[in-house]
Amino acid sequence: MLERYSSILTGDIDPYYLLAKEKDRGKDYSIYTYDDLWIELEKQRKDGVPSLEIKRELAERILENCIFCERRCGVNRKKGEKGACRVTETKISSEFLHMGEERELVPSHTVFFAGCNFNCVFCQNYEISQLNQGIEISPVILADRIQGGGGKNVNWVGGDPTPHIPYVLEVLDNLSSPLPQIWNSNMYLTEETMEILSGLMDVYLTDFKYWDEECAERLSKVKNYTSVVKRNHLMAEKTGDLIIRHLVLPGHMECCTKPLLEWIDSELEEPRVNIMSQYRPVWDADKHEDIGRYLSGKEKREIRRLRKKYSHLGGGN
Ligand code: SF4
Repeated sequence: MLERYSSILTGDIDPYYLLAKEKDRGKDYSIYTYDDLWIELEKQRKDGVPSLEIKRELAERILENCIFCERRCGVNRKKGEKGACRVTETKISSEFLHMGEERELVPSHTVFFAGCNFNCVFCQNYEISQLNQGIEISPVILADRIQGGGGKNVNWVGGDPTPHIPYVLEVLDNLSSPLPQIWNSNMYLTEETMEILSGLMDVYLTDFKYWDEECAERLSKVKNYTSVVKRNHLMAEKTGDLIIRHLVLPGHMECCTKPLLEWIDSELEEPRVNIMSQYRPVWDADKHEDIGRYLSGKEKREIRRLRKKYSHLGGGN
């Protein structure tokens, strides 16, 4: 569990992004076609960790026809067009040393991006994700703050970090500390985006919300949620460590919580799982009968039972 992360902290190995920066420093990939960039990336992957430069070029191209997440809006965000996440330029809501993350991660230099590709009616962070509140900070300045910040890792979150990938890559280009990189996300990324993150992110700190596709569509307005998120967890564990968070929703124990935990236990190799019970009915939750309340005593007892059952995966924080 968290083998890669621990080895970086002890200095036995480097975080991926430092290896990626050593490759092809300064090479100009702007002359490549989009398809040739993917062919070259695949070639580099066979020889080890692909270069950061090629991923920065790919991310810039995707920005012109945005498919960072499975909403696949296809908008040109460079020209200010807005997709479902409504993100154009990157804004940061806050960044600080977070002491409230999983015990292995703290203190964690956490960067909260404004905006999200989901529209969860119960969003626990809606000022950031739905109201897009934040300020612009240059990637050079953020890299500098991270460098001198004293965190054990860098934790990219939001909202969701997915719409902000070109910015994240630019910060990495300006960073040099041997800090593990954590992708803290709803994991609704496309396969293309997962390929970009593979060999850059050391840990995937995922938010696995639902098992039932209809629950996901009704409460977060996303299609094919479970199949996308399952696929991405399987991709993520090939190169990184996995910490999976599941916030138990009232009334969703049978349709979502239990089958989702069973799948994690049987299909993933060595994830660390955090079953969370701090749900609050905020934002638009009160318009929905099932989630417009706090967890019941019975549901909290069931969570305690599940934490014991899955204690070999970590269970709680
Ligand atoms: S990141 Fe935003 S614009 Fe891009 S595909 Fe996802 S929702 Fe659409």
